[in-house]
Amino acid sequence: MKYYVLFGPPGAGKGTQAGSMVERYNLCHLSTGELLRSEIAAGTPLGLQAKSLIEGGNLVPDEVVEGMIESKFQNTKGVNGFLLDGFPRTIAQARALDEMLSKKGEEVTACISLMIPDSLIRERIANRAKIEGRADDARDEVVLNRIDTYHAKTEPLIDYYIEKGKYREIDGVGSIEDVRSRIFAAID
Ligand code: AMP
Repeated sequence: MKYYVLFGPPGAGKGTQAGSMVERYNLCHLSTGELLRSEIAAGTPLGLQAKSLIEGGNLVPDEVVEGMIESKFQNTKGVNGFLLDGFPRTIAQARALDEMLSKKGEEVTACISLMIPDSLIRERIANRAKIEGRADDARDEVVLNRIDTYHAKTEPLIDYYIEKGKYREIDGVGSIEDVRSRIFAAID
Protein backbone atom coordinates (compact mmCIF):
# COMPACT_ATOMS: atom_id res chain seq x y z
CA MET A 1 0.00 0.00 0.00
CA LYS A 2 1.06 3.57 -0.65
CA TYR A 3 0.80 6.14 2.11
CA TYR A 4 1.28 9.69 0.83
CA VAL A 5 1.34 12.63 3.21
CA LEU A 6 0.07 15.72 1.38
CA PHE A 7 1.73 18.54 3.25
CA GLY A 8 1.67 22.33 3.09
CA PRO A 9 0.52 25.51 4.80
CA PRO A 10 -3.18 26.40 4.88
CA GLY A 11 -4.27 27.52 1.43
CA ALA A 12 -1.42 25.74 -0.38
CA GLY A 13 -3.90 23.83 -2.55
CA LYS A 14 -3.90 20.43 -0.84
CA GLY A 15 -7.66 19.92 -1.10
CA THR A 16 -7.68 21.22 -4.68
CA GLN A 17 -4.98 18.81 -5.83
CA ALA A 18 -6.16 15.80 -3.84
CA GLY A 19 -9.02 14.91 -6.24
CA SER A 20 -6.86 14.27 -9.29
CA MET A 21 -4.25 12.45 -7.20
CA VAL A 22 -6.72 9.97 -5.71
CA GLU A 23 -8.15 9.30 -9.16
CA ARG A 24 -4.82 8.75 -10.88
CA TYR A 25 -3.33 6.52 -8.19
CA ASN A 26 -6.53 4.90 -6.82
CA LEU A 27 -6.07 6.30 -3.33
CA CYS A 28 -8.49 6.95 -0.49
CA HIS A 29 -8.49 10.68 0.32
CA LEU A 30 -8.37 11.25 4.08
CA SER A 31 -8.66 14.90 5.02
CA THR A 32 -8.80 15.32 8.79
CA GLY A 33 -10.19 18.86 8.29
CA GLU A 34 -13.06 17.52 6.15
CA LEU A 35 -13.71 14.66 8.56
CA LEU A 36 -13.87 17.12 11.45
CA ARG A 37 -16.17 19.48 9.53
CA SER A 38 -18.59 16.62 8.86
CA GLU A 39 -18.56 15.68 12.58
CA ILE A 40 -19.46 19.32 13.34
CA ALA A 41 -22.24 19.31 10.72
CA ALA A 42 -23.63 16.07 12.17
CA GLY A 43 -23.53 17.54 15.69
CA THR A 44 -21.64 14.59 17.20
CA PRO A 45 -19.91 14.91 20.60
CA LEU A 46 -16.57 14.88 18.79
CA GLY A 47 -17.82 17.66 16.50
CA LEU A 48 -18.91 19.73 19.48
CA GLN A 49 -15.49 19.28 21.08
CA ALA A 50 -13.70 20.28 17.85
CA LYS A 51 -15.89 23.21 16.79
CA SER A 52 -14.53 26.00 19.00
CA LEU A 53 -10.92 24.88 18.48
CA ILE A 54 -11.30 24.90 14.69
CA GLU A 55 -13.16 28.17 14.64
CA GLY A 56 -10.39 29.75 16.72
CA GLY A 57 -7.76 28.47 14.29
CA ASN A 58 -6.30 26.02 16.83
CA LEU A 59 -5.46 22.36 16.37
CA VAL A 60 -7.71 19.68 17.84
CA PRO A 61 -5.98 17.21 20.20
CA ASP A 62 -3.62 14.71 18.56
CA GLU A 63 -5.54 11.67 19.93
CA VAL A 64 -8.75 12.84 18.22
CA VAL A 65 -7.32 12.95 14.71
CA GLU A 66 -5.14 9.87 15.26
CA GLY A 67 -8.26 7.88 16.20
CA MET A 68 -10.09 9.07 13.08
CA ILE A 69 -7.22 8.09 10.82
CA GLU A 70 -6.72 4.69 12.39
CA SER A 71 -10.38 3.77 12.03
CA LYS A 72 -10.34 4.82 8.34
CA PHE A 73 -7.25 2.64 7.77
CA GLN A 74 -9.13 -0.30 9.25
CA ASN A 75 -12.38 0.22 7.37
CA THR A 76 -11.26 1.18 3.85
CA LYS A 77 -10.94 -1.53 1.21
CA GLY A 78 -10.25 -1.68 -2.50
CA VAL A 79 -7.68 1.11 -2.84
CA ASN A 80 -3.98 1.11 -3.62
CA GLY A 81 -3.23 3.43 -0.77
CA PHE A 82 -4.12 6.57 1.16
CA LEU A 83 -3.64 10.27 0.59
CA LEU A 84 -3.35 11.94 3.99
CA ASP A 85 -4.38 15.57 3.63
CA GLY A 86 -3.81 17.79 6.66
CA PHE A 87 -2.48 14.91 8.74
CA PRO A 88 0.01 14.65 10.41
CA ARG A 89 0.16 18.25 11.65
CA THR A 90 2.44 17.77 14.66
CA ILE A 91 5.55 15.69 15.31
CA ALA A 92 3.52 13.62 17.81
CA GLN A 93 0.98 12.82 15.07
CA ALA A 94 3.79 11.87 12.66
CA ARG A 95 5.22 9.47 15.25
CA ALA A 96 1.76 8.02 15.93
CA LEU A 97 1.28 7.52 12.18
CA ASP A 98 4.63 5.73 11.89
CA GLU A 99 3.61 3.47 14.75
CA MET A 100 0.17 2.70 13.26
CA LEU A 101 1.78 1.80 9.95
CA SER A 102 4.65 -0.22 11.36
CA LYS A 103 2.15 -2.46 13.19
CA LYS A 104 0.84 -3.34 9.73
CA GLY A 105 4.32 -3.76 8.25
CA GLU A 106 3.82 -0.55 6.27
CA GLU A 107 5.43 2.90 6.17
CA VAL A 108 4.92 6.40 4.79
CA THR A 109 5.80 6.30 1.09
CA ALA A 110 6.52 10.01 0.67
CA CYS A 111 5.67 13.44 2.00
CA ILE A 112 4.54 15.56 -0.95
CA SER A 113 4.88 19.15 0.17
CA LEU A 114 3.08 21.98 -1.62
CA MET A 115 4.96 25.13 -0.84
CA ILE A 116 3.68 28.69 -1.22
CA PRO A 117 5.00 31.88 0.38
CA ASP A 118 3.19 33.37 3.41
CA SER A 119 2.17 36.36 1.28
CA LEU A 120 0.09 34.06 -0.95
CA ILE A 121 -1.51 32.09 1.92
CA ARG A 122 -3.80 34.94 2.93
CA GLU A 123 -4.75 35.74 -0.67
CA ARG A 124 -5.67 32.09 -1.37
CA ILE A 125 -7.70 31.80 1.85
CA ALA A 126 -9.53 35.06 1.12
CA ASN A 127 -10.53 33.65 -2.29
CA ARG A 128 -11.61 30.33 -0.78
CA ALA A 129 -13.70 32.14 1.84
CA LYS A 130 -15.89 33.52 -0.94
CA ILE A 131 -16.38 30.08 -2.49
CA GLU A 132 -16.57 27.56 0.37
CA GLY A 133 -17.86 29.68 3.26
CA ARG A 134 -15.69 27.98 5.90
CA ALA A 135 -16.02 29.63 9.32
CA ASP A 136 -12.24 29.44 9.92
CA ASP A 137 -11.50 31.27 6.65
CA ALA A 138 -13.73 34.24 7.41
CA ARG A 139 -11.86 36.09 10.15
CA ASP A 140 -8.44 37.63 9.77
CA GLU A 141 -7.25 36.84 13.28
CA VAL A 142 -8.24 33.18 12.88
CA VAL A 143 -6.35 32.93 9.58
CA LEU A 144 -3.30 34.55 11.20
CA ASN A 145 -3.48 32.10 14.10
CA ARG A 146 -3.61 29.17 11.66
CA ILE A 147 -0.53 30.50 9.88
CA ASP A 148 1.31 30.89 13.22
CA THR A 149 0.20 27.40 14.27
CA TYR A 150 1.48 26.03 10.97
CA HIS A 151 4.92 27.59 11.48
CA ALA A 152 5.18 26.59 15.14
CA LYS A 153 3.75 23.08 15.16
CA THR A 154 3.52 21.75 11.61
CA GLU A 155 6.57 23.11 9.80
CA PRO A 156 8.97 21.00 11.95
CA LEU A 157 7.59 17.99 10.05
CA ILE A 158 9.64 19.10 7.05
CA ASP A 159 12.87 18.14 8.82
CA TYR A 160 11.21 15.01 10.19
CA TYR A 161 10.55 13.72 6.66
CA ILE A 162 13.82 15.07 5.21
CA GLU A 163 15.71 13.00 7.81
CA LYS A 164 13.80 9.92 6.68
CA GLY A 165 14.58 10.67 3.01
CA LYS A 166 10.85 10.93 2.24
CA TYR A 167 10.41 14.66 1.61
CA ARG A 168 9.53 15.97 -1.87
CA GLU A 169 8.84 19.68 -2.19
CA ILE A 170 6.63 20.94 -5.01
CA ASP A 171 6.35 24.59 -5.99
CA GLY A 172 2.69 25.35 -5.25
CA VAL A 173 2.67 28.69 -7.08
CA GLY A 174 1.05 28.65 -10.51
CA SER A 175 -2.08 27.32 -12.18
CA ILE A 176 -3.89 24.28 -10.78
CA GLU A 177 -2.83 22.31 -13.89
CA ASP A 178 0.85 23.28 -13.59
CA VAL A 179 0.99 22.30 -9.93
CA ARG A 180 -0.83 19.05 -10.71
CA SER A 181 1.76 18.12 -13.38
CA ARG A 182 4.60 18.80 -10.92
CA ILE A 183 2.96 16.54 -8.34
CA PHE A 184 2.39 13.72 -10.84
CA ALA A 185 5.98 13.99 -12.07
CA ALA A 186 7.29 13.73 -8.50
CA ILE A 187 5.12 10.71 -7.66
CA ASP A 188 5.75 8.93 -10.97
P1 AMP B 1 -7.93 21.91 7.14
O1 AMP B 1 -9.21 21.59 6.45
O2 AMP B 1 -6.87 20.86 6.91
O3 AMP B 1 -7.43 23.30 6.87
O4 AMP B 1 -8.24 21.83 8.71
C1 AMP B 1 -9.15 22.73 9.33
C2 AMP B 1 -8.96 22.72 10.82
O5 AMP B 1 -9.22 21.41 11.35
C3 AMP B 1 -7.54 23.05 11.30
O6 AMP B 1 -7.29 24.43 11.38
C4 AMP B 1 -7.55 22.39 12.68
O7 AMP B 1 -8.28 23.16 13.61
C5 AMP B 1 -8.34 21.12 12.41
N1 AMP B 1 -7.45 20.01 11.98
C6 AMP B 1 -7.42 19.43 10.75
N2 AMP B 1 -6.48 18.46 10.70
C7 AMP B 1 -5.91 18.44 11.93
C8 AMP B 1 -4.85 17.67 12.52
N3 AMP B 1 -4.19 16.74 11.81
N4 AMP B 1 -4.53 17.92 13.80
C9 AMP B 1 -5.18 18.85 14.53
N5 AMP B 1 -6.16 19.62 14.04
C10 AMP B 1 -6.53 19.43 12.76
